[in-house]
Amino acid sequence: MHTADVAIIGGGIVGSSIAYHLVDAGCKNVVVIERESAQGKGSTGKSMGGVRAQFSTPVNIQMSLYSIPFYASFEERLGYPCDYRPQGYLFCATSDNHMAYLRANYEKQVVLGLKNVRLVAGDEIRGMFPQLRADDIVGGSFCSTDGFVDPYSAMIGCMTWASDHGAILWKNTTVTGVSRHEGCFEIATTRDTVSARTVVNCAGVWSAGIAKMVGIELPVEPLRRMLVPTEPFDQFPHTAPMIIDMSNGFHFRPEGRGFLLAWNDPEETAGYKTDFEPAFIEKILTRAADRVPVFENLAVNPKRAWAGLYEMTPDHHPILGESPEVPGFFFANGFSGHGVMHSPATGKILSDLILTGKTDLIDASLLNFSRFAEGRMIHETAIL
Ligand SMILES: Cc1cc2nc3c(=O)[nH]c(=O)nc-3n(C[C@H](O)[C@H](O)[C@H](O)COP(=O)(O)OP(=O)(O)OC[C@H]3O[C@@H](n4cnc5c(N)ncnc54)[C@H](O)[C@@H]3O)c2cc1C
Repeated sequence: MHTADVAIIGGGIVGSSIAYHLVDAGCKNVVVIERESAQGKGSTGKSMGGVRAQFSTPVNIQMSLYSIPFYASFEERLGYPCDYRPQGYLFCATSDNHMAYLRANYEKQVVLGLKNVRLVAGDEIRGMFPQLRADDIVGGSFCSTDGFVDPYSAMIGCMTWASDHGAILWKNTTVTGVSRHEGCFEIATTRDTVSARTVVNCAGVWSAGIAKMVGIELPVEPLRRMLVPTEPFDQFPHTAPMIIDMSNGFHFRPEGRGFLLAWNDPEETAGYKTDFEPAFIEKILTRAADRVPVFENLAVNPKRAWAGLYEMTPDHHPILGESPEVPGFFFANGFSGHGVMHSPATGKILSDLILTGKTDLIDASLLNFSRFAEGRMIHETAIL
């Protein structure tokens, strides 16, 4: 039997960030249990790496206000790189409704302390990127500290720092059962049993299965997302931000010598589907060439495209904090497409809640599990 103060189930970016924050706060007897032989085989290794503070709900904005400066100072703090590139996010509105929505979000973001966000006129966007078909763009919003990170490096940096300072990572180890006796959990794994007073569920799209081990129905469902990288392409600037076409949700960003294309296919249904669907390429290239006419010349190798899973909750916000039914069992699940950008804040919030029972970073009751039963869902509409 191995004994730990905190057992973290899942060694993706969320489990790694929680391990980092716990150890940094002085709680060093932490074990992270990861099923795969290497970290990053879940959603973290499939992510687009976008980080942004341009959200519509205050709690999402607050989480980004911790997370983005964390990424900006990552190397200084941890001594490992995360490749934060503050190239911005540019939302392009094609209707007055979209513009009113961006304006309302902008006002909330500024009140909460976001400094580098601004509304931009259609003409400014046309001036910035003459390659866009912008006849219908009425304006937009841009935040220069939004941008991209390398999710794999960020995950490895957090976990390596935590391991360097006392945490243990067990790879190749599957959690097969969790039971509770006299205030202590026994976590059965394929390696050894772990005894811990606190367990954190960081199992990504598999988190509902872990919650079921302690009798909890967790509303987290997998939803496939596909990404298409292009071959090298130099007819659009590589200094570009993430550009979002609000007319249909198509968005893209520079990646290596090419671009990474994304679009949320509304026909996608919940399930553990991780095959890349070749028909998606035509769907996305049609939208790409519609917004960026020179993208007609893009070359794509279908073998380099991939699919991964978003961990969706009913209100597109994560579920964070202690279970009301099983004391000592904590959730860090359901990031609905934002788990990379919000993993630093999640690490800090969970570490605060585990070690002190409270946090100043957000009003944690907003994201607790009880909100579903109590009808307190908070909908995020700025999802990509
Ligand atoms: C295509 C795509 C694009 C995305 N783009 C972005 C983006 O631009 N920005 C952003 O912020 N987010 C993005 N996301 C979302 C983001 O990747 C996820 O929210 C985030 O990676 C979740 O991290 P995690 O650590 O919770 O989960 P994961 O990375 O999935 O880690 C969970 C881990 O738990 C392990 N595990 C599961 N069951 C067990 C068990 N029984 N025992 C032991 N270990 C177990 C798994 O092996 C896995 O390693 C994207 C996701 C996808 C799929």
